Amino acid sequence: MIIDGKKISEEILEEVRLEVLSIKENHNIVPGLAVIIVGDDPASRIYVNNKKKACSKVGMYSQEYSLPENTSQENLLKLIEKLNSDKNIHGILTQLPLPKHIDEKAVIEAICPEKDVDCFHPTNVGRLLTGNAYVLPCTPAGIIEALEHEKIDISSKHCVVVGRSNIVGKPIALLLLQKNATVTICHSKTSNLKDICMQADIIVCAVGKANFISKEMLKNDVVVVDVGINRLPNGKICGDVDFQDVEPIASYITPVPGGVGPLTISMLIKNVLECFKKIK
Ligand code: NDP
Repeated sequence: MIIDGKKISEEILEEVRLEVLSIKENHNIVPGLAVIIVGDDPASRIYVNNKKKACSKVGMYSQEYSLPENTSQENLLKLIEKLNSDKNIHGILTQLPLPKHIDEKAVIEAICPEKDVDCFHPTNVGRLLTGNAYVLPCTPAGIIEALEHEKIDISSKHCVVVGRSNIVGKPIALLLLQKNATVTICHSKTSNLKDICMQADIIVCAVGKANFISKEMLKNDVVVVDVGINRLPNGKICGDVDFQDVEPIASYITPVPGGVGPLTISMLIKNVLECFKKIK
């Protein structure tokens, strides 16, 4: 079974659209997202455009702040401070990565936790860790949404997460743990990766290396979630999992593109609505 992330994402966006419509009719206000992009990285530009497009699809307000590559950290922090107190803005996101002269940590910490739609702020990470999440981080939440949509049991399953980034690996491991999975996290220093992957009932791969996972590393009927987005020399996008190779032995698999990517965006939009409801 191929998990159609695009279709699930459209269902989520439609639910949000109806709720936004009702808020607008009853209170004459709509949730608003501020998107900050620094520099002109082509991949970041595509992500920002997709996020803005999703906002307009559900009737939310979005405002883009496109800053030049050489913007100072001070100016960026000033903008965030202004947006923190802007009553029309309920979610703020700064597209990562930022140029090298800007300290990402300082930027993440400048966004007030109540408008932190990415769930990157240490306060929100702490809330998530202690089982008291303010909002859920977008990509991990999208993965859980996809698994639950397909009625895939997580409880008591062995979930192997390959990758330990703050954005994907660590938080998805945490969410799977909260769903009562037994979780193993692997990374570049893991010595017996193949043996561990072989034990996975559910594998989540967030490494950033094209076709990194092949069928020789997996058991039959495994559930495969491919988070990777890799651009091949021919310009095509592919995941971390060798899809052609693995799809025949997997019980479920997310494709790239059309899997986790669209789910991440719809969870972001859902988070803007969540922040709006909590701030109001
Ligand atoms: P990072 O580069 O931050 O993390 C990659 C992780 O992979 C690291 O923990 C690293 O280990 C691990 N790793 C690298 N090489 C190996 C190896 N040989 N064996 C085992 N583990 C290894 O990436 P992100 O988590 O930010 O992103 C991962 C991928 O997911 C990228 O392709 C990114 O574009 C994509 N992505 C997709 C999203 C979506 O919406 N679909 C959202 C976010 C990311 P170590 O810590 O030891 O260095």
